[in-house]
Amino acid sequence: MEKLDFDVVIVGGGLVGSALALALRDTSLNIAVLEGMPPPDVLPPGWDARVYAISRASERLLRRIGAWQRLDGVRVAPVSAMEIHGDRPGHMLRFDALEAGSETLTHILENRHLQLALWQGLQEAPNVTVFSPARPAALRVDPQSAQLTLDDGRVLSSRLLVGADGANSWVRQQMDIVPAVTPYEQFGVVANFATTKSHHGIARQWFMADGILAWLPLPDQRMSMVWSCYGDRRDALLAMAPDELAACVSAAGARELGELALITPAQAFPLRLNHVPEIVRPRVALVGDAAHTVHPLAGQGVNLGFGDVEALAGILTVELSARVGDYLVLRRYERSRREAVYLMQGVCHGLQKLFNNEHPVLGGLRNWGLDLTNRLPWIKRQLIRHAMDA
Ligand SMILES: Cc1cc2nc3c(=O)[nH]c(=O)nc-3n(C[C@H](O)[C@H](O)[C@H](O)COP(=O)(O)OP(=O)(O)OC[C@H]3O[C@@H](n4cnc5c(N)ncnc54)[C@H](O)[C@@H]3O)c2cc1C
Repeated sequence: MEKLDFDVVIVGGGLVGSALALALRDTSLNIAVLEGMPPPDVLPPGWDARVYAISRASERLLRRIGAWQRLDGVRVAPVSAMEIHGDRPGHMLRFDALEAGSETLTHILENRHLQLALWQGLQEAPNVTVFSPARPAALRVDPQSAQLTLDDGRVLSSRLLVGADGANSWVRQQMDIVPAVTPYEQFGVVANFATTKSHHGIARQWFMADGILAWLPLPDQRMSMVWSCYGDRRDALLAMAPDELAACVSAAGARELGELALITPAQAFPLRLNHVPEIVRPRVALVGDAAHTVHPLAGQGVNLGFGDVEALAGILTVELSARVGDYLVLRRYERSRREAVYLMQGVCHGLQKLFNNEHPVLGGLRNWGLDLTNRLPWIKRQLIRHAMDA
């Protein structure tokens, strides 16, 4: 049985796990990344239906670890304004980057482009060993180390094991950490469209009593849709022929981008809030969706994960490498993330409850609230700054 020693083993080489390994690239730590999927060596043609609104704080991290510079600029869409519509005509809240003294609020990136950029960085990092495709079979944690046995029998020993393995985290399950799950009974239906009118770099969102529709700008005359909706609408959307789906989505968004043509087939993801009571144990830490999930209405899931990377890498970088994995060190990471995670989960959950509600009083309140906020420049500026730097 081959035994390999590392300082840090990261289970999950998704966006957050890869970013963490790269953020530790310039340290003396010896790092392993274990990923169940084969490496994303080449990009398939076409557009990825999974896209992210990357905040300025996440952009700064991605620049610092060299991933942003590897992105193909023509696939990055800057967002200069955001319009949030109520479900009664004429009620709207608009955030303009210029109001916060900036040209862009955020950038829209495709998942697989960002994933490839991060993986290319991993290949060049001298202190990172990638095991892919590889799966863990067993985990044993003692006061000095974590011993991860792979399904091919190899054993990876480390002083810190990080679970970056997504919302259904295997690492979290091995540690018997049980999240409090709030299912929304909603799904995120995603698809990309070509449009006959320009989006002018504006992200649009419609809050309706039975769901939230978002149109995010993609390069040129294209946009990416995320429709958070209940199961009956998801079934209907997925069953539609491409032209029928395009006409339905165009009508739901008041035809603001003219006629639509489907360019990436629709897919659906279940939505839920995962509140994880502990994100560290001696020798173990959780990051990204393994540590928290949020409703995608604010597009902040991956940004929260990159916030975890900043915090954990920041603490590990200044600590003596002998203390990597110490519970007291990891508790500092946990405490540093608590407020940001609770706040984002609370805001997204509250908005989802307020907006996805057929109560007539709440319906009036949400439309009135949008108008009122739109007329309060100071509050708007604070909200814009918070969204940009989340
Ligand atoms: C419909 C929808 C829209 C969204 N839109 C946005 C948005 O606009 N903006 C935003 O910020 N966020 C958005 N999110 C959230 C975002 O997708 C997640 O927050 C983000 O992908 C989390 O990254 P992660 O690396 O933590 O986890 P994941 O992306 O889940 O990556 C986990 C990795 O671990 C690997 N893995 C899992 N188990 C194992 C195992 N046992 N062994 C080895 N490897 C394993 C997986 O193969 C994967 O590569 C959205 C989510 C949904 C569902």
